[in-house]
Amino acid sequence: DARWPLLNLWLDNLRQTEVIEQLQQWQGDGQFHRIAFVNPHCANLASQNPRYRGMLNAADLLLPDGSGVLLASRMLGTPLKENTNGTDLFPVLCRYWQQQKARVYLLGAHRGVAGRMAEQLLWEYPGLHIAGSQHGYFAEEDTPNIIQKIRDTHPDVLLVAMGVPKQDMWIAEHLAQLQTPVAMGVGGLFDFYSG
Ligand code: UDP
Repeated sequence: DARWPLLNLWLDNLRQTEVIEQLQQWQGDGQFHRIAFVNPHCANLASQNPRYRGMLNAADLLLPDGSGVLLASRMLGTPLKENTNGTDLFPVLCRYWQQQKARVYLLGAHRGVAGRMAEQLLWEYPGLHIAGSQHGYFAEEDTPNIIQKIRDTHPDVLLVAMGVPKQDMWIAEHLAQLQTPVAMGVGGLFDFYSG
């Protein structure tokens, strides 16, 4: 098992290329997979919130996000193979999705941000499809409509940018209804990408 325990979180200790191999293995298996990232802030929240911790540990891939986790891994004597972080991994994932001609749905951030991110992605990764986008400040009672809207576009990948722990809890709770092959919480990525 490549998983590696840090503060009761079972992180997958993978290189970027191994993450892509995992995506390839999932390709066409008919299952719905979720990927979560952990930074020190998440680890702290998880230590106080067993439900969140359980949900992270049950993710199909739990990846370390950034140098804080790398440092902790060294101090605990079980260093990570690579300083994986969401920001560096994202372009690698996009190139893979570009080759696959994948349909990507963007959910989250303030109104207009996901649309600008979509334009940026189309420009940087021609061949990638944007299935749709939706801001992340909808009312709780709109959740069933949002899920239906996402489902109707048949995305291969769902990126959810609604902050920690909300985004990862939302994915875990709704993944079966969403019927999306891969869903991933991405934090502030849309804000970063939309400039
Ligand atoms: N966000 C959202 N809905 C919410 C709360 C946050 O769409 O109810 C978005 C926010 O606009 C930002 C992203 O989630 O684009 C990440 O939020 P934050 O910057 O708080 O990051 P965190 O460190 O919590 O992941």
